[in-house]
Amino acid sequence: RAKQKGRGRYEVFDEEMHTQALKLLNLETDLRRAIENQEFLVYYQPIMALEKTKIVGFEALIRWQHPKKGFISPGEFIPIAEETGLIIPIGQIVLKEACQQLKTWQEKLPKAKNLTISVNLSSQQLKEPEILQHIDHSLNVTGLQPESLKLEITESLLMENADVATTLLRQLKERKIQISLDDFGTGYSSLSYLHRFPVDTLKIDRSFVNCIGKPEENLTIIQSIMALAHNLDMDVVAEGIETEKQLTFLKFLECEFGQGYFFSKPLPSHEVENQFLL
Ligand code: C2E
Ligand code: MG
Ligand code: MG
Ligand code: MG
Repeated sequence: RAKQKGRGRYEVFDEEMHTQALKLLNLETDLRRAIENQEFLVYYQPIMALEKTKIVGFEALIRWQHPKKGFISPGEFIPIAEETGLIIPIGQIVLKEACQQLKTWQEKLPKAKNLTISVNLSSQQLKEPEILQHIDHSLNVTGLQPESLKLEITESLLMENADVATTLLRQLKERKIQISLDDFGTGYSSLSYLHRFPVDTLKIDRSFVNCIGKPEENLTIIQSIMALAHNLDMDVVAEGIETEKQLTFLKFLECEFGQGYFFSKPLPSHEVENQFLL
């Protein structure tokens, strides 16, 4: 009987796995079609200089407009794009589109002249042997200055691929492309390592910003990250600023930059243009 029961459980498990596998397969098929049919959009979230409340650039964030399922967030499909290797063509679409958009704004709008565009790079992209050619290509065809481009890689990605990353980051710096460390504070970063990488900016993860003003607030971490960054001559961007209180405290800590719903959600290009560039 025990055996029977056991087998029963096994079948249920099997069925769930089957359903899950089918779902992933469907999503993969959908993703391939999405590339063909250009179903991806790039949204832009302003990054602000906190002291003067002045815009300094944007982060490009991908959106998928699925013909049947509507908007699918990057949190849902980026992991699958990574597993299937589709992140390479998708990443290239975002990079080129984001470079093109900033170049267009810089040419027609005086306010956009000195802005930067930040684009997220995933681990598969970091390991892609032709990633440098892809980046060069995007800059060449759009005519965007390399100084205007910032690439965001996560802290864990950097630490897990230290050798590949060091080489790539050095090549990016030779081109005058800037580098941000995304979601900083959430990885297992060995701080003694950090100075070896040519990083321009630390982005404090929004979980730390979020706790400012809450009963369980732990400000020591934010203060330490800030001190560390400044000692290493890096700028700091605070992610996920949602309240005036958080903003005030970050300014008190002399955090230079920030982004978050308090300033603006990520927006499609025409809305960003109307609200921030005209
Ligand atoms: P991320 O790079 O850390 O991007 C910041 C995320 O925080 C974005 O979520 C943004 O919409 C959200 N956010 C910004 N301000 C606030 C705020 O005040 N409150 C809250 N609750 N959230 C805020 P999004 O757009 O859903 O992207 C999620 C993640 O997906 C990104 O995290 C990034 O890791 C990844 N991602 C997005 N676009 C791309 C892409 O083009 N390529 C790659 N490889 N990854 C991407
Ligand atoms: Mg990012
Ligand atoms: Mg981030
Ligand atoms: Mg984050």
